[in-house]
Amino acid sequence: MLRVPQSVWGIWELDVNQTCVSLDLETSGLDPDNDRIIEVGAVKFRGGTVLGTFHTLVNPGCMLPNRVRLLTGITDDELQVAPPFSAVVDELVSFIGDHSIVGQNVQFDLGFLSSHGVIVSNNVYDVYDLATILLPHLDEYSLPALARQFDISYPVQHRALEDAFAAKDIFRALLEYVDKLDLSVIAEINRLTMASDWPWRPLFLELETGKAGGVSLWDRQAWEADCVPEAKGSVGREPLVPEAVLKPLDVDWLAGFLEEGGVVSKALPGFEYRPGQVLMMRHVAGALNEGRHLVVEAGTGTGKSIAYLLPAVIFAVQNNAPVVVSTNTINLQEQLVTKDLPELLKALSSAGEPAGAAAVKVAQLKGRNNYLCLRRWNSWRKTLGLPWEETRFLLRLLVWLSRTSSGDRAELNLAGNETGLWNRVCASEDNCVPERCSYYPGGCFLYRARRQAVGAHLVAVNHALLVSDLARGGGILPDYGHLIVDEAHHLEEEATEQFGYRVGDRDIYSLLEHFGDRGGFLFHLSSYLRTSSLAASRRRDVGREVEELTERAKRARPFAERFVGDVVRLVDFQVGAQGEYERALRFSQEVRRHRLWSEVQSSWEGLDDQLAGVEIGMAELQATLEGLPSRSDSELNNCLAEMASVRQQVSGLRARLSSIVADPAGDSICWARITWQGELYLHSAPLSVGRMLDNVLFSRKDCVVLTSATLSVGGDLSYIKKSLGVEGAQGLIVDAPFDYAKSTLILLPEDIVAPEKPGYQEAVEQALLGVCRATRGCTLALFTSHAALRATYASVQPVLEGEGILVLGQGIDGSPKRVLNTFKANRNALLMGAAALWEGVDIVGEGLSVLVIVRLPFGVPTDPVTAARSELFDDSFNQYLLPQAVLRFKQGFGRLIRSWSDRGVVLILDKRLQTKAYGDAFLQSLPRCTVKTTRLPQVPEEVLGWLGWSVPADSRASHSEQTKTRPQDCW
Ligand code: SF4
Repeated sequence: MLRVPQSVWGIWELDVNQTCVSLDLETSGLDPDNDRIIEVGAVKFRGGTVLGTFHTLVNPGCMLPNRVRLLTGITDDELQVAPPFSAVVDELVSFIGDHSIVGQNVQFDLGFLSSHGVIVSNNVYDVYDLATILLPHLDEYSLPALARQFDISYPVQHRALEDAFAAKDIFRALLEYVDKLDLSVIAEINRLTMASDWPWRPLFLELETGKAGGVSLWDRQAWEADCVPEAKGSVGREPLVPEAVLKPLDVDWLAGFLEEGGVVSKALPGFEYRPGQVLMMRHVAGALNEGRHLVVEAGTGTGKSIAYLLPAVIFAVQNNAPVVVSTNTINLQEQLVTKDLPELLKALSSAGEPAGAAAVKVAQLKGRNNYLCLRRWNSWRKTLGLPWEETRFLLRLLVWLSRTSSGDRAELNLAGNETGLWNRVCASEDNCVPERCSYYPGGCFLYRARRQAVGAHLVAVNHALLVSDLARGGGILPDYGHLIVDEAHHLEEEATEQFGYRVGDRDIYSLLEHFGDRGGFLFHLSSYLRTSSLAASRRRDVGREVEELTERAKRARPFAERFVGDVVRLVDFQVGAQGEYERALRFSQEVRRHRLWSEVQSSWEGLDDQLAGVEIGMAELQATLEGLPSRSDSELNNCLAEMASVRQQVSGLRARLSSIVADPAGDSICWARITWQGELYLHSAPLSVGRMLDNVLFSRKDCVVLTSATLSVGGDLSYIKKSLGVEGAQGLIVDAPFDYAKSTLILLPEDIVAPEKPGYQEAVEQALLGVCRATRGCTLALFTSHAALRATYASVQPVLEGEGILVLGQGIDGSPKRVLNTFKANRNALLMGAAALWEGVDIVGEGLSVLVIVRLPFGVPTDPVTAARSELFDDSFNQYLLPQAVLRFKQGFGRLIRSWSDRGVVLILDKRLQTKAYGDAFLQSLPRCTVKTTRLPQVPEEVLGWLGWSVPADSRASHSEQTKTRPQDCW
């Protein structure tokens, strides 16, 4: 066991007698049963002193996979002359001895040792395990990321000895970090882990005992009190009261700020004068002045955020009128609030403008479920017997809560199932009962954030929050009359989501399970009754009602199963039971007339009756509890708050399912969706978003500016205006400032077969192989389906990696964010992406020089929303499907050229662009590029010629200059 000196808490030191061994293996793959060890590195250390090292290459007796060669730099020649593992194992075992083993993801290494006959029973400390808990905000927990975090030098990666040294240093840095935790946090860690065999627990117990002066506190009642962080940085402000007569902006004066030699260019290094930016700013200022709506497409490189922030800030300050700025992604929201806006305000301050940094109040507000709900958190952490996955998640939250002042999940890196677990602890509409919540309003993160938005000149929100505020008639955002919507091409989709709803089969089941759950309100109520001072007869009466309610919920379960089963049968019958991918069925009039629909309807009525019974039982129990003499008891009050939240959820569930199955609104689209994992979801969405937005937004606000880099189709903004319900708005298209004719070549292979013809898939694969061999990577290929992406990946990955080019597949080698980061770090790589990577990729320079658009991105006509909305048009293809595809195509195209110096090729492998009448609509929507038809065999030469790369790219970037990053830090 690690020993902690009791006397010195300031500097964490292992006991001088405690020696550890940091261990790392490089292997030929991920499977301990079939792959081999190729390198072993170990460092023996005590405190900060290295006592010895062990290092050897190991002959695996087989050739190395290309990817491992690429990532480690180890060659087959080196391994062929290395000893086999059997020749080094005794020395390794003796080196490790009975010392504690330290490592990164060390169970992986121990699994390999075990499969090679080495079983260890030493203490094992996994730095990954502890780092994920202590540093819940980090994006990654790989050795390089942790080394960066602690400023540890780690120049060579993916080699065993160097990795072992890095793990040792990170281990020590983590121990120092643990020492700085508050005693209350350490005690709660010990309470949460009391039923576990977590390897780090003895260490935390010793630390607690030492910090508390020789006694352990973790099992004391005192630490079971509420774990609520102090309210830091919460500012309550008075709402802004706008001037009775709004003072218009001086547009020429503002334009001067952005001109050459103006205030902004003087204050911001690297700022360039862009006429398009000034033009856009003038229009935004004009719209604010005149109180009208404006739609602006601003091409990449316009500098549109400054073009709207500058007039918005000055307008808000001089009129005391809040301006709301909405973005689709939290990333852009963060960029505006933490970079663009502070830079702009700094520039204004430096010029002595009154709207400088000190005068402008800015607030950032996100949707409810971005904030942690303290009531739910405290209820959950007090639940006994939690599975380890949940305990681990609560440990991460606990450490985070000891530091956060916002309670905003953006500060957390939630991985895998944790996103689902977050839903159990976030502030959600269904679970929030402010009138019964003891944390409301001062302690609650959500309401603290909302209070900060009151009185702000500029409130940054995301579309989800913007639309949910509109959908409920306001109340979340401060009153505002002026709005700027960036990334406006996502507004329709977000409004579809926010004006609609969905219910999953798991939502129904887990709500019913809550009644018998050890973490549920009835469990807490029963615990309360056992220890309360109520008269025995009262306790018996309440206990009977609790039992009756539990029974009602239990009885409802088979009805829920029957309902879910009937819907699944209907979907199976209508769209087929088989399928590797999602299946969806729109509940059209025709489907509602089908004989199986009557079974769905009847099983819903049965379930609805049961749920109504549960609601009645809850109302009765609530009335009984309200009448108890101990009504003001905080424990009972918490139970009542939880109960109110569950009752709200039951009634919400009934209302939603009823409006999907029994009583659908005429202007709604209802459908069922079954995921490939077999989960059922029932959806409802508005048929026309435009009409709703017009009602709640455009007809009520003075000025709404909608902007994005992709809004027009063929130089026309009509489609987006109509779909968003703002047809009367003024329009402006600002071309990107780049010289696309010189920088961008669009290549159209005339001999490629049409996508629906045999041989298309092979042609795509050959084209990708040809391009990547020529350019040695630097290529992004965009697919419209994951199936096509996977098929292509399976074919090209072994070939290209055999030639030293890393192939990254979205969803195969990791999430979009992960594969994108790996792509950025590797010069010689092909990135294959689907939906998410059609936007959000922003790579300046040679790293992305070729963009391959595999197919034109038409929506799926059988998708329920697409099918229902298509019916609203006379010519659904030209009026709806085509404009949507063109906008998507433009987003994909926009990934290539991100700066003045960028140069690249767009290879379009869909022959319909050349052969169909609508093909021109795609090309005419792009900036004026150089367009060339060619034949497939000539594509590599054309690409190299355009890029001016007469020699393969890897000759220009030496191996040692490249950063090697493996897609998953698994070996
Ligand atoms: S007010 Fe609502 S969101 Fe806030 S802590 Fe209470 S229940 Fe949770």
